[in-house]
Formats: sequence, structure tokens, C-alpha cells
Amino acid sequence: MAWIDLSVFLLLFILFVYVFTTVTVTPLHKAYLAFHFAMMLWPFCQFAIKATDNSSLQLFYVKLAFVGSVPLAIGWIFFTLFLTGQSPKRRIIYVLITVPAMLLLPIIIFNPHQLFVLPVEGGYVERYYGSLFWLTMVIVLSYFIVSLIIMLRALIGNNSTRIKNQVKQVLSGVFVMTAFILLDLLLNVGFPQKQAVIQGLTSFGILFSAIFFVIAIHRNKVFDIVTIAHQDIIDTICHGILVIDENENIIEINQSLSPYLSLQVGDRFDIKAILPQEVLDDKDQAFVRSYQERPLERAEIEAVYQEAVNIHVHIQVSPIWVGGTMVGRIITFQDRSELRNLLIETKLQNEILQHRNEALIAIQHELSRTNLKLEQMAITDSLTGCYNRHYLMQRLERDFNQNLQDQVPFSVLLLDVDHFKSINDNYGHLVGDDVLCRTVDIIQHHLRQEDILSRYGGEEFIIYLPDTEQSEAEILADRIKYAVEMNIINLSQSASLSITISIGLLSNHTFAFEPSTDSETALNEMFQAVDQALYQAKREGRNRIVSAAR
Ligand code: GH3
Ligand code: MG
Ligand code: MG
Repeated sequence: MAWIDLSVFLLLFILFVYVFTTVTVTPLHKAYLAFHFAMMLWPFCQFAIKATDNSSLQLFYVKLAFVGSVPLAIGWIFFTLFLTGQSPKRRIIYVLITVPAMLLLPIIIFNPHQLFVLPVEGGYVERYYGSLFWLTMVIVLSYFIVSLIIMLRALIGNNSTRIKNQVKQVLSGVFVMTAFILLDLLLNVGFPQKQAVIQGLTSFGILFSAIFFVIAIHRNKVFDIVTIAHQDIIDTICHGILVIDENENIIEINQSLSPYLSLQVGDRFDIKAILPQEVLDDKDQAFVRSYQERPLERAEIEAVYQEAVNIHVHIQVSPIWVGGTMVGRIITFQDRSELRNLLIETKLQNEILQHRNEALIAIQHELSRTNLKLEQMAITDSLTGCYNRHYLMQRLERDFNQNLQDQVPFSVLLLDVDHFKSINDNYGHLVGDDVLCRTVDIIQHHLRQEDILSRYGGEEFIIYLPDTEQSEAEILADRIKYAVEMNIINLSQSASLSITISIGLLSNHTFAFEPSTDSETALNEMFQAVDQALYQAKREGRNRIVSAAR
């Protein structure tokens, strides 16, 4: 019932292949294990050939030994590729590496016309090799040569010393193995008739080279590369990392923590000791409580370590879970000083900007106030404070045409101070000015909000009365004339004076403008007419009102 053992062996082998292909190991692990497995086949088969008298079994083991050289050759190339830090990306390279060796399998298995191996005296303990054997050997050897070239190139090329060292080690193994295989070929295959058989030469060669490989792998930590990479990352990362086990012992600590914490692997971890302040404030205590009472939750705090400059560190504690059990905690320290300084700087800049903004707004207000003042000045008579002629003309040009068109009533009064020259002559110009100002004040007192009093020139004023019929204008003119006359202007100590004014009056409803003239001509017509009315008032004895009618 030998097939039972064989089946068990095959099942175990399938399991091995399954585990081998599915567990997380690096391609280098896989290449080496395949390679090692193939190496194991050779001495096993050499033993098995001699352990049986059954010639067909012997033939089976001979074939199996050489079948093993196929994965050996393929594994060899991959192993050297991975060893030299190269991992083929393109599928064609995998095909180029595997196919030629695979083609050897039918030659070895079917041994056509016994061209691969021939029995000596009916058995295969001693055997002749045919032409196909040598073809097979040439192909297997070319695999070794290719991998030798790969390794030599890695030695010459600018690879890391780690890769160079491990290649050197493996090359030594290759030379030992090649030497043994060549010796075996020479002594046991090349000249078998001399009977100078030294048993197991190739097997020993394989063993020695395997020892070299294992040394290479271990000395240079080829398989630890991922762990080394992790350690490198942990040590070079700018965040501090501290790992503690469930008994609060430190099991991992990286270099970034050294500026503010002097702890070592194996030390007992004390959450309070890592905080910068000896006397804990409320925030620290809340953090410590959260750490101690709720280990399954994440805890974090912002701490300030006082070194040469203050270091602002964000500390975060998180549990580490393995299969639903908390096995330890990871504490990370993130230096946020730069971020914080940046924030402070930004805040400062913001404040400066805000101040500048406020100053700008103040300037803007000042400007608009000045503008308003300028606008006011542009339409105001500087002596008396009433409107100037420029403003009056603007208003009239705007309203005049519209009023005529819409038949809206309006009136205009032209005022002139009587004998004003004599006031200047008698009292001087300053008194004259003062008299003008006080007269304007009195007149203004009798006007409505919408009436426009403007200085037309010298001691002449025009009052524009919107929405005012002639009768209303006459009443107003009379009141003004009377008020001015009654207004006693006190000069120095005892002296005082009063003045009179003459008024020319014009209302649009009682004045027939020339038909079909433009507004400018009509306006001039109006000024002429009211001027004539004033002139008439002067002529008739002054201190009176004359209406312009036509
Ligand atoms: P009437 O109008 O009644 O015919 O006599 P009048 O003396 O007022 O004659 P006129 O209109 O010719 O004289 C105006 C005077 O007003 C001449 C000028 O010296 C004076 N005057 C004009 N503008 C000002 C001013 O701003 N201040 C002062 N103090 N005097 C001025
Ligand atoms: Mg005058
Ligand atoms: Mg006058």
C-alpha cells in the first residue's frame, strides 16, 4: 500500500505549496524556499536510487533528481534577482525565465530512446548519460551563468554595500557548488570507466552552497529587510512614537522623542512623567484620568515642553488591538510648534491688517467729510454763507425748463442794498461786510427750506422761490424788505445803522416769455426783466418792490 504514503506525501506537499504561496512573505522568501526545496530533492534522490534494487524506481528517482534541477535553475535566477534588489515587473521576463527550463521537463521525464539516461547492468545506480542529458546540462548551466552575470553586474554597479556584501557571499556559495558539480561530472560522469567514484559530490556541493546562502541571508538580514525598513521609518519619522505593552512596559521608542523625553525600551511607562508640568493642571488631570480609566478610548492633549524654545506637542494615546484584545498602546508625539508659530504669526499679521484697515476706513471717512466740505464750499458764498451764483445757475438751469413746461409756478426776487457804497465809505469795508452778513441772516430767517438765497454779486442777491405764485412772492418780498429795514445793526459802542433794499420781482405765470426760444435765452430774458424791475425800483426811490410783468 505504498500509494497511501505517496498520497499523504502529495497532500502534505500541496498544503506546503498552499501555505507557501498565500502567507505574507516577501518574493525573496518565496524564491529562496522554492530554491531550497529543489536543492533538497537532489541528495534525497541520490539516496533513494541506492536504497532500492527496483530499476524502474531507480529510474524514477534519477528523473526526479533532474526534474528538481528545473525549479532549481528558475529559482536560482529569481533568487539572484531579488537578492540584488531587482524585482521584474514585466510578465515577459517571467516567461523568458521559466519557459526554457520547463522545456527540459518532457526530455527528463520521457527519456526518449534512452537519450537522456541509460542503465548499466540493468540498474541505474550506475548509469550512462546520453546526448539529451548534456543538452539539459548546458541549459541548466546557462541559467547559472545568467545569474552569475546578474550578480557580477550587481557587484560592479552602484548598489548598496548591503546588497554587494550579500552577493559576494552568495557568489562564494556558487563557486563552491560549481566546483563540486564539475568535479562530480568529471569523476563520475566524464570518466565512469575509471571507477574513481566519489559518492555524493554534487550533494555536498549543494549543501555547502546552501550553507553559504543561509549565512548570506542571516548576516545581511536579507529577510529582515521589511523590519529594518519599518525601524528606519520609525526612527526617521518626525513624530515621536512610543509603544507600551499591556503591562505598561516600553517596548518601542523612536529617536524623535529624545529632545523632550529620556526613556528607554524596557522602562516602566508613567503617563504623568511624560507630561511637561510637574504640578498637573485641570487639562493634564483630565488627560491622565482618561488614560487610566478609559484605556480602550483614544486620549489626547496639547503639551508645552520648555526646552531652548517652547515645543508645543500634541500627544495622542491609542490602544493597539490584536484579534479583539488590547495588547498595548501607542503614544504619538506630534510637534506642532511650527504650526502654532505660524498661527500666531498669522494672527499678528491679521491684527496689523485690521489696524491698517481701520486707519484706512478713518482716512476714507475723513476724505468723504472733506469732500462734502469741498462740495459745500463749491456752492457756498464764502462771506455770507448763503449759496453762490454758481449754485443758483445750476438750480435754475435744472428747474427752469421743467417749470415752464409743466406750468409749475416759481418766482425770482433780485435784491440790491440801497446806497451801500456810502456804508463802505462811511464805516469801512469790514462794516460793509458785516452788514451784508447780518442782512443775509435776516432774509434767511424768513425763507422756507426749499427757497434758495444766493449772492448774485457785490451787494446783490437773488432768491429763487420754487412753487411760488406772484401773490405769495409779493407777500414774502414785502416781509423781507420790512425785516431788513427794521433790522438795527449795532456797530461799535453807541453807533448803529439800518439799511433798506430794493427788490425786482418776477413770477413765471405773470410774465410772458418769448415763444419758442431755448431755455438759455429764456433764462437770460428772465434775468434782464427782473434786473429792469430792480432798476425801476431804484429809479422810483429805492426801498420798494417792482414786479416785472409782460
Ligand atoms: P444803489 O444800489 O442804491 O444805486 O447804490 P449803491 O451805493 O449800492 O451803488 P452800487 O450798487 O453801484 O455800489 C455797490 C457797492 O458795493 C460798490 C462796492 O464797493 C460795494 N461792494 C460790493 N461788494 C462788496 C463786498 O463784498 N463788501 C463790501 N464791503 N462792499 C462791497
Ligand atoms: Mg449794486
Ligand atoms: Mg446797491
